[in-house]
Amino acid sequence: MDFLEEGEYVTRRESMVTNQIMQRGITEKRLLDAMRTVPRHLFVPAGYKRYAYSDHPLPIGEGQTISQPYMVALMTNLLDLTGIEKVLEIGTGSGYQAAILAHLAAEVHTVEILPHVADKAGKILTSLGYTNIFLHTGDGSFGWPEMAPYDAIIVTAAAKETPQPYFDQLKPSGRLVIPTGGPSLQHIQRWTNENNEWIPESILAVSFVPLRGAEGWTRDEWPT
Ligand code: SAH
Repeated sequence: MDFLEEGEYVTRRESMVTNQIMQRGITEKRLLDAMRTVPRHLFVPAGYKRYAYSDHPLPIGEGQTISQPYMVALMTNLLDLTGIEKVLEIGTGSGYQAAILAHLAAEVHTVEILPHVADKAGKILTSLGYTNIFLHTGDGSFGWPEMAPYDAIIVTAAAKETPQPYFDQLKPSGRLVIPTGGPSLQHIQRWTNENNEWIPESILAVSFVPLRGAEGWTRDEWPT
């Protein structure tokens, strides 16, 4: 198998934070500390552990990916979390992003549409002892109304356009971070509310796996 010494993971994690995250201008101390703490190598499949702290996304099975560390940091930073928030994540995937959020907010609700992927993420999050992450299996393309309203929503799969239910489930002071666009081009958008109107800000061109489900991409539209 592909395992390194525990100390080697710690060294690589430190250098990931310095060279990939701080180097690109992220300075928020609580976020950097969370990224120094969460053992990312436990969220990737056995054969990829030595690449867990590399500067790119990795496959996690079923055609899905764990995002590049910098992408996790950037999107999290855009949520402006102070520690008191209730956050919704759509697209649990490996569970890594949810773990980072758990260090920065009071309560994290994360939704995964693929039961097998959700099971795996649930096991690792439980084994790490997180008590403020609530994993829901189902279609999150129209949010998760049962637990609304949220202070922040982060979507980690590419939507066609921003589904209206996400706005409906946010507090007026809320923040929504979501990649939108098709198979060839997507952008991270950050939405905030000014005078009862949701205003988008386009942040960065990116490449995500598609958001599926009722409000998402069909396999005909976007095969993977
Ligand atoms: N945040 C993840 C990466 C997500 S990859 C991490 O930290 O590892 C995108 C995930 O979104 C995939 O697991 C995919 O199955 C899931 N997904 C796609 N459409 C979805 C939907 N409608 N509802 C919930 N999850 C969805």
